[in-house]
Amino acid sequence: MLLIKFLIFCFCFTGCVREETVHQNQPKYSALSGSHLEAKWSNSISFPLTLKYGTNFSTNELMAIENSANNWNDSVQNEIHFFDIQPSQVSEKVHVDDYNDTELGVYKLTKWPTELPPTALAITQIFGEKIQTSTDTRLEIQHADILVNFENFEFSSNGGFIGYDLETIIIHEMGHFLGLAHQDSSPETSIMYPTIGQFTDSKIPKEIDISNILAKYSVTNTRNESNERETDRQAVVIILELYSNGQEKISFKYN
Ligand SMILES: [Zn+2]
Repeated sequence: MLLIKFLIFCFCFTGCVREETVHQNQPKYSALSGSHLEAKWSNSISFPLTLKYGTNFSTNELMAIENSANNWNDSVQNEIHFFDIQPSQVSEKVHVDDYNDTELGVYKLTKWPTELPPTALAITQIFGEKIQTSTDTRLEIQHADILVNFENFEFSSNGGFIGYDLETIIIHEMGHFLGLAHQDSSPETSIMYPTIGQFTDSKIPKEIDISNILAKYSVTNTRNESNERETDRQAVVIILELYSNGQEKISFKYN
Protein backbone atom coordinates (compact mmCIF):
# COMPACT_ATOMS: atom_id res chain seq x y z
CA MET A 1 0.00 0.00 0.00
CA LEU A 2 1.32 3.28 -1.03
CA LEU A 3 2.03 5.57 1.87
CA ILE A 4 1.58 9.16 0.87
CA LYS A 5 1.90 12.21 3.02
CA PHE A 6 -0.51 15.05 3.02
CA LEU A 7 0.23 18.72 3.79
CA ILE A 8 -1.45 21.91 2.76
CA PHE A 9 0.57 25.00 2.37
CA CYS A 10 -1.24 28.18 1.81
CA PHE A 11 0.94 31.00 0.76
CA CYS A 12 -0.79 34.28 1.21
CA PHE A 13 0.90 36.95 -0.67
CA THR A 14 0.75 40.60 -1.48
CA GLY A 15 -0.91 41.83 -4.62
CA CYS A 16 -1.47 45.17 -6.24
CA VAL A 17 -3.11 43.33 -9.10
CA ARG A 18 -6.47 41.93 -8.11
CA GLU A 19 -6.93 39.47 -10.91
CA GLU A 20 -6.26 35.91 -9.97
CA THR A 21 -5.75 32.71 -11.89
CA VAL A 22 -5.69 29.21 -10.51
CA HIS A 23 -3.05 26.95 -11.93
CA GLN A 24 -2.89 23.24 -11.42
CA ASN A 25 0.82 22.98 -11.74
CA GLN A 26 3.59 20.59 -12.57
CA PRO A 27 2.72 17.18 -14.00
CA LYS A 28 4.64 15.44 -11.21
CA TYR A 29 1.88 16.60 -8.90
CA SER A 30 -1.65 15.31 -8.73
CA ALA A 31 -4.51 16.96 -10.58
CA LEU A 32 -6.74 17.12 -7.53
CA SER A 33 -7.98 20.54 -6.57
CA GLY A 34 -7.28 21.60 -2.99
CA SER A 35 -9.95 24.25 -3.03
CA HIS A 36 -12.55 21.59 -3.73
CA LEU A 37 -11.40 19.06 -1.20
CA GLU A 38 -13.67 18.92 1.81
CA ALA A 39 -11.26 19.43 4.73
CA LYS A 40 -12.04 19.29 8.42
CA TRP A 41 -10.42 18.28 11.67
CA SER A 42 -10.56 14.62 12.50
CA ASN A 43 -13.45 13.62 14.76
CA SER A 44 -10.89 12.08 17.09
CA ILE A 45 -9.52 15.55 17.88
CA SER A 46 -11.87 17.73 19.88
CA PHE A 47 -12.22 21.52 20.09
CA PRO A 48 -10.87 23.74 21.40
CA LEU A 49 -7.59 23.31 19.60
CA THR A 50 -4.79 24.59 21.82
CA LEU A 51 -2.74 26.88 19.68
CA LYS A 52 0.75 27.61 21.00
CA TYR A 53 2.55 30.80 20.07
CA GLY A 54 6.26 31.43 20.21
CA THR A 55 7.41 33.72 22.98
CA ASN A 56 9.28 35.84 20.43
CA PHE A 57 6.05 37.62 19.39
CA SER A 58 5.74 41.17 20.75
CA THR A 59 2.78 42.15 22.94
CA ASN A 60 1.00 43.80 19.99
CA GLU A 61 1.64 40.82 17.73
CA LEU A 62 0.34 38.47 20.39
CA MET A 63 -2.80 40.58 20.69
CA ALA A 64 -3.34 40.13 16.94
CA ILE A 65 -3.19 36.33 17.43
CA GLU A 66 -5.52 36.41 20.44
CA ASN A 67 -8.01 38.67 18.68
CA SER A 68 -8.08 36.35 15.66
CA ALA A 69 -8.71 33.30 17.84
CA ASN A 70 -11.46 35.14 19.72
CA ASN A 71 -13.00 36.43 16.51
CA TRP A 72 -13.28 32.88 15.16
CA ASN A 73 -14.81 31.71 18.46
CA ASP A 74 -17.23 34.65 18.54
CA SER A 75 -18.19 34.26 14.88
CA VAL A 76 -20.33 31.22 15.77
CA GLN A 77 -21.52 32.69 19.09
CA ASN A 78 -19.23 30.20 20.77
CA GLU A 79 -21.40 27.30 19.58
CA ILE A 80 -17.97 25.87 18.83
CA HIS A 81 -14.99 27.12 20.81
CA PHE A 82 -12.34 26.66 18.16
CA PHE A 83 -9.16 27.94 19.76
CA ASP A 84 -7.40 28.36 23.06
CA ILE A 85 -4.14 30.27 22.93
CA GLN A 86 -1.11 29.45 25.06
CA PRO A 87 2.51 30.59 25.12
CA SER A 88 5.17 28.05 24.36
CA GLN A 89 8.84 27.75 23.70
CA VAL A 90 7.94 26.57 20.17
CA SER A 91 11.03 27.09 18.11
CA GLU A 92 11.87 27.34 14.46
CA LYS A 93 12.54 24.04 12.76
CA VAL A 94 15.04 23.37 10.04
CA HIS A 95 12.67 21.58 7.65
CA VAL A 96 8.97 22.16 7.03
CA ASP A 97 8.21 18.47 7.66
CA ASP A 98 9.56 18.87 11.20
CA TYR A 99 6.55 21.00 12.13
CA ASN A 100 4.47 17.81 12.31
CA ASP A 101 5.11 17.54 16.05
CA THR A 102 2.91 17.52 19.17
CA GLU A 103 2.26 21.28 19.24
CA LEU A 104 -0.14 23.20 17.03
CA GLY A 105 1.77 26.44 16.64
CA VAL A 106 1.85 29.97 15.34
CA TYR A 107 5.47 30.65 14.51
CA LYS A 108 7.27 33.94 14.08
CA LEU A 109 10.05 32.86 11.76
CA THR A 110 13.05 35.14 11.42
CA LYS A 111 14.73 32.45 9.34
CA TRP A 112 12.32 31.31 6.61
CA PRO A 113 12.68 27.62 5.62
CA THR A 114 14.62 27.26 2.39
CA GLU A 115 11.99 24.81 1.07
CA LEU A 116 9.41 27.61 1.01
CA PRO A 117 9.31 30.51 -1.45
CA PRO A 118 10.85 33.59 0.23
CA THR A 119 8.06 35.63 -1.35
CA ALA A 120 5.32 34.01 0.77
CA LEU A 121 4.02 36.20 3.59
CA ALA A 122 2.77 33.30 5.64
CA ILE A 123 1.69 29.72 5.19
CA THR A 124 -0.64 27.34 6.89
CA GLN A 125 0.67 23.82 6.75
CA ILE A 126 -1.82 21.04 7.32
CA PHE A 127 -1.00 17.38 7.80
CA GLY A 128 -3.80 14.95 7.28
CA GLU A 129 -5.21 12.05 5.37
CA LYS A 130 -7.21 11.91 2.19
CA ILE A 131 -10.12 9.59 2.66
CA GLN A 132 -11.96 8.09 -0.27
CA THR A 133 -15.40 6.74 0.47
CA SER A 134 -18.10 5.18 -1.62
CA THR A 135 -19.65 8.64 -2.03
CA ASP A 136 -16.83 11.21 -2.09
CA THR A 137 -13.31 12.27 -1.12
CA ARG A 138 -12.52 14.28 1.97
CA LEU A 139 -9.47 15.46 3.89
CA GLU A 140 -9.17 14.73 7.58
CA ILE A 141 -6.85 17.20 9.33
CA GLN A 142 -4.59 15.81 12.05
CA HIS A 143 -2.05 18.57 12.56
CA ALA A 144 -1.53 22.16 11.44
CA ASP A 145 0.74 25.14 12.00
CA ILE A 146 0.87 28.74 10.88
CA LEU A 147 4.27 30.07 9.85
CA VAL A 148 4.75 33.83 9.40
CA ASN A 149 7.63 35.10 7.29
CA PHE A 150 9.27 37.75 9.48
CA GLU A 151 12.56 37.23 7.68
CA ASN A 152 11.39 38.88 4.48
CA PHE A 153 8.42 41.04 5.49
CA GLU A 154 7.37 43.67 7.97
CA PHE A 155 4.04 43.32 9.75
CA SER A 156 1.94 45.91 11.44
CA SER A 157 0.07 44.95 14.59
CA ASN A 158 -0.95 48.28 16.05
CA GLY A 159 -2.82 49.96 13.22
CA GLY A 160 0.35 51.37 11.70
CA PHE A 161 0.89 51.81 7.98
CA ILE A 162 4.20 49.99 7.70
CA GLY A 163 4.04 46.39 6.52
CA TYR A 164 1.13 43.99 6.25
CA ASP A 165 -1.59 43.88 8.86
CA LEU A 166 -0.72 40.83 10.96
CA GLU A 167 -4.24 40.27 12.30
CA THR A 168 -5.68 40.26 8.76
CA ILE A 169 -3.17 37.56 7.85
CA ILE A 170 -3.66 35.48 11.01
CA ILE A 171 -7.48 35.43 10.78
CA HIS A 172 -7.15 34.21 7.16
CA GLU A 173 -4.56 31.57 8.05
CA MET A 174 -6.69 30.37 10.97
CA GLY A 175 -9.47 29.85 8.44
CA HIS A 176 -7.17 27.51 6.50
CA PHE A 177 -6.15 25.95 9.82
CA LEU A 178 -9.81 25.03 10.37
CA GLY A 179 -10.06 23.60 6.86
CA LEU A 180 -11.49 26.50 4.87
CA ALA A 181 -10.45 26.95 1.25
CA HIS A 182 -10.20 30.30 -0.53
CA GLN A 183 -13.32 32.26 -1.43
CA ASP A 184 -13.02 34.10 -4.70
CA SER A 185 -16.01 36.42 -4.21
CA SER A 186 -14.36 39.65 -2.94
CA PRO A 187 -12.21 40.80 -0.02
CA GLU A 188 -15.27 42.63 1.35
CA THR A 189 -17.37 39.47 1.56
CA SER A 190 -14.81 36.93 2.79
CA ILE A 191 -11.67 36.90 4.89
CA MET A 192 -10.69 33.87 2.78
CA TYR A 193 -10.21 35.99 -0.35
CA PRO A 194 -6.85 34.74 -1.64
CA THR A 195 -5.06 38.06 -2.11
CA ILE A 196 -3.90 40.09 0.85
CA GLY A 197 -2.41 43.47 0.01
CA GLN A 198 -0.40 45.89 2.08
CA PHE A 199 -3.51 47.94 2.88
CA THR A 200 -5.95 45.07 3.37
CA ASP A 201 -7.61 45.35 6.76
CA SER A 202 -10.10 42.54 7.34
CA LYS A 203 -10.20 41.00 10.78
CA ILE A 204 -13.67 39.58 11.31
CA PRO A 205 -15.10 36.44 9.64
CA LYS A 206 -17.87 37.45 7.22
CA GLU A 207 -21.27 35.87 6.68
CA ILE A 208 -20.01 33.49 4.00
CA ASP A 209 -17.04 32.43 6.18
CA ILE A 210 -19.34 31.75 9.13
CA SER A 211 -21.74 29.69 7.06
CA ASN A 212 -18.83 27.71 5.58
CA ILE A 213 -17.37 26.97 9.00
CA LEU A 214 -20.76 25.99 10.44
CA ALA A 215 -21.32 23.70 7.46
CA LYS A 216 -18.22 21.81 8.57
CA TYR A 217 -18.58 21.71 12.31
CA SER A 218 -22.06 22.61 13.52
CA VAL A 219 -23.76 19.65 15.18
CA THR A 220 -26.86 20.29 13.12
CA ASN A 221 -24.81 19.87 9.93
CA THR A 222 -22.65 16.96 10.93
CA ARG A 223 -22.91 14.20 8.39
CA ASN A 224 -23.21 10.60 9.37
CA GLU A 225 -19.87 9.27 8.24
CA SER A 226 -20.47 5.86 9.76
CA ASN A 227 -22.75 5.00 6.84
CA GLU A 228 -20.00 5.67 4.30
CA ARG A 229 -17.88 2.81 3.09
CA GLU A 230 -14.23 3.86 3.17
CA THR A 231 -12.37 2.66 0.10
CA ASP A 232 -8.98 4.30 0.54
CA ARG A 233 -6.97 6.37 3.03
CA GLN A 234 -3.69 8.11 2.22
CA ALA A 235 -1.46 10.77 3.64
CA VAL A 236 -0.57 13.37 1.01
CA VAL A 237 1.00 16.83 0.56
CA ILE A 238 -0.81 19.86 -0.84
CA ILE A 239 0.89 23.18 -1.49
CA LEU A 240 -1.06 26.36 -2.23
CA GLU A 241 1.10 29.26 -3.29
CA LEU A 242 -0.18 32.75 -3.82
CA TYR A 243 2.09 35.26 -5.52
CA SER A 244 2.26 39.02 -5.67
CA ASN A 245 0.73 39.20 -9.12
CA GLY A 246 -2.39 37.59 -7.70
CA GLN A 247 -1.81 34.21 -9.26
CA GLU A 248 -2.53 31.21 -7.17
CA LYS A 249 -0.72 27.94 -7.67
CA ILE A 250 -1.90 24.72 -6.12
CA SER A 251 0.20 21.60 -5.99
CA PHE A 252 -0.14 18.20 -4.40
CA LYS A 253 3.10 16.53 -3.54
CA TYR A 254 3.11 12.78 -3.11
CA ASN A 255 5.95 11.13 -1.20
ZN1 LIG B 1 -4.88 31.69 1.82
